Amino acid sequence: ASRAFHPDNTTVQVLDHVVGGETPTIIAGPCSVESRDGLIDIARAVKASGAQLLRGGAFKPRSSPYSFQGLGEEGLKYLAAAREATGLGIVSEIMEPGLVDLVASYVDVLQIGARNMQNFALLKAVGRTNKAVLLKRGFSNTIEEWLMSAEYIMAEGNPNVILCERGIRTFETYTRNTLDLNAVPVVQHLSHLPVMVDPSHGVGHARYVSTMARASIAAGAAGVIVEVHPKPEEAWSDGSQTLTLEAFDQMARQVRQLHELT
Ligand code: PEP
Ligand code: MN
Repeated sequence: ASRAFHPDNTTVQVLDHVVGGETPTIIAGPCSVESRDGLIDIARAVKASGAQLLRGGAFKPRSSPYSFQGLGEEGLKYLAAAREATGLGIVSEIMEPGLVDLVASYVDVLQIGARNMQNFALLKAVGRTNKAVLLKRGFSNTIEEWLMSAEYIMAEGNPNVILCERGIRTFETYTRNTLDLNAVPVVQHLSHLPVMVDPSHGVGHARYVSTMARASIAAGAAGVIVEVHPKPEEAWSDGSQTLTLEAFDQMARQVRQLHELT
């Protein structure tokens, strides 16, 4: 992952989109996959607003075992149906090494969540595929540890790693996490890998998401991943940090305009 071994920036191809290329990557969709038709409606809307990739969790790493855990394979089927309907590439989280083949058979980007950033068995398992991997930073992990986790994937032979800053734990409680935008230029100094930002989990409140999405692009991020739902207050998870379709449309426009300037 070190720039010392690879001076030029690397890019990651996902279907016809290049992450780290000329256009900013915009990944959008619900926190959790809910219904098939609802997901397809969201996919159509975010595509019309300029997203290239659709996100949606089918296996959810919930803090409480009593919270909704995701639709599992059924959710993966809905994601694949949304790709079929729109052509959007699919990003979804994987939590267990034993499920790599299953999840990889439905999605285009395997998301490693913050809680699994140092699940080394999982990192090695996705490293043995040729799928793009969105590697989120653990909320209590240093940049050094994060890059070492990228190394675990790459050492198994998979170079298609996209890093994603999603906020870290600090003493501050007004926001869910503290979005560490310092990480963007630091990673770009240390590594050739593309780095994206997740302002939704970074701030935890919808009202701050667009501002921090713009700040992410200004800091040099290759793009953003955000949670979007037609009725955030009814979302099955993370509704409070989820943008409406209208707010997302405006955010996507601003992100593109700002990226032109950087
Ligand atoms: C998510 O993307 O919905 C998620 C659980 O993210 P993180 O792993 O960053 O908390
Ligand atoms: Mn979420």
